[in-house]
Amino acid sequence: MSIQENLNKIKSSIPEHVTLVAVSKTKPVSDLLEAYNAGQRIFGENKIQEMVEKFEALPKDIAWHMIGHVQSNKVKYMAPFVSLIHGVDKFSLLEEINKQAKKNNRIINCLLQIKIAEEDSKFGLSPEKASEILQSEAFSELKNVKIVGVMGMATFTDNQIQIENEFSLLKETFNTLKALKSFNFQPEIISMGMSGDYQLAISCGSTMIRVGSSIFGERNYL
Ligand SMILES: *Cc1c(COP(=O)(O)O)cnc(C)c1O
Repeated sequence: MSIQENLNKIKSSIPEHVTLVAVSKTKPVSDLLEAYNAGQRIFGENKIQEMVEKFEALPKDIAWHMIGHVQSNKVKYMAPFVSLIHGVDKFSLLEEINKQAKKNNRIINCLLQIKIAEEDSKFGLSPEKASEILQSEAFSELKNVKIVGVMGMATFTDNQIQIENEFSLLKETFNTLKALKSFNFQPEIISMGMSGDYQLAISCGSTMIRVGSSIFGERNYL
């Protein structure tokens, strides 16, 4: 199936309130253009350098989402254009995003990454730590970032029950954190679900899915 057919199939199978991020990491610009011509306007990348190159090569009405782990020293390269940063997992990163956003005279939307997986390899804040950050005085001083929700990645496993429990934990965490709403914490988004588990994620409350291989095909890592 073509990229366009894959996109149409996924879009027709998800509810209207769920946003589809097309994860285009490692894929050539021509593939992204094919998705763009099929109407897709939100793309997710996990490396800043690669995202910058694609941003420069493609139409400017694309919303670019950084879905990977972010190193503070690279925030400056994406600060002029990034639309949403999914993987914020420490306060110092938020401070750097705020600083670079200010330099570019903008407010950058971010999600707090919550650790829901059992695996040690997955990044993320504990629900308690996230709550602590959102309530801190230091956070209230960051005028150029806005936290618009949470993001999580389930354990890499075939165990559907475990994945469902982890997604449910993210939904519960979102519901709890919602009470802390403030001028720079406006929770709306629960980013969870990838090619293999987005249906389950949606049934657990996801409002934003990040789908790569089901749109663009398998990735070949060199
Ligand atoms: C690569 C990636 C995805 C997409 O994975 P697929 O299984 O190809 O859909 C989603 N989220 C994150 C954080 C990723 O790195």
